[in-house]
Amino acid sequence: MKKITSLIMIMMSCVVLSACQTTSDEAIKVSDQFFAMDTYITYTIYTTASQTESAKALMSEANSEFERIADLANRFESFEGLVNVSTINEQAGITPVVVDPMLIEMVLLAKEVAAQSNGAFSVVLGPVSEIWQQYQDSDLVGIPNQAELDELRPLLDLDNLIVDTQASTLYLTEPGMVLDLGAIAKGYATEYVAKWLADTGIEHAIINAGGNVKTIGGHPTNGAFRIGLQDPNDLGGIFGSVAIQSTSVVTSGDYQRYFEYDGVRYHHLIDPATLQPARLYRSVTIVTPNSTLADALSTALFVLPLEAGQALIETYYPGTAVIWYSADGTVTTNVAMDEIFTLGGE
Ligand code: AMP
Ligand code: MG
Repeated sequence: MKKITSLIMIMMSCVVLSACQTTSDEAIKVSDQFFAMDTYITYTIYTTASQTESAKALMSEANSEFERIADLANRFESFEGLVNVSTINEQAGITPVVVDPMLIEMVLLAKEVAAQSNGAFSVVLGPVSEIWQQYQDSDLVGIPNQAELDELRPLLDLDNLIVDTQASTLYLTEPGMVLDLGAIAKGYATEYVAKWLADTGIEHAIINAGGNVKTIGGHPTNGAFRIGLQDPNDLGGIFGSVAIQSTSVVTSGDYQRYFEYDGVRYHHLIDPATLQPARLYRSVTIVTPNSTLADALSTALFVLPLEAGQALIETYYPGTAVIWYSADGTVTTNVAMDEIFTLGGE
């Protein structure tokens, strides 16, 4: 069995930014990189020479906010004095847990997208993801058998995740249920941090958290930022790019986390209907201002058949731009995407 971790690749080539051509003396590009939520987070702020140090300090402070949200959404580790997702999971079948309103917000949006996607998006697939993870980590050899996965179905009912907004509690009613906000938390943190930076007066910036990119404003002189989209068949290259300002681009891809067994790729995006990795696409990219929503939708649409995904967008999120990169290499875009997308590398 071959185990492949492509996180570094994502960091290096998921986003190819437009060249930094500062035609004005005043425009300086300042970047810094951090690691959180299992991914590299790169902050790029366009500022003036005299503000370089303060921009660096702001990035560091912003990233502390990112880390705070990462800790809240962490389902693997508990931290002293912090109620997080692992606390909710520990208390499954025991008691509702009072949580930070940010977790309530994430779960409410997750439930909305779950309903809109007919269950293709589900934040309670944790027990299934955990089994697949054991094979990816080589703790077990081969792949899980279907019966073993199907036995977990009683633990996968999203109605058994109870939200009480008044009391600010979350409760998994069945012991063994596992909340997993992996499909939405990075988008939420990126969105939060972008707002935080904008509130400090930053007008031109890019936050790149793995497959999640958020832009504040546009490029100070060139207008739009051109963001390259990683080619699933050539992770060092791009298959196209989007020109954007003040919005977010989020991609879910089968190359972001996976292992291979018997020549077949088993990745981290699970179809709740089969409990197997979803097989229709190599990647799905969403462009919409709210990064939390973009994150949830990229995962949901990765699982849904094309027509169902198109219908979801048209019904609930008209104007949201989508690219489906299918398993056979066909690239499909919707009308909103056609306005900003260019096919091909640079
Ligand atoms: P993303 O990279 O945003 O598409 O999120 C992938 C992560 O979401 C996985 O690593 C799992 O933790 C979780 N996940 C997998 N399948 C689903 C699904 N169908 N719905 C919601 N979350 C999922
Ligand atoms: Mg997602």
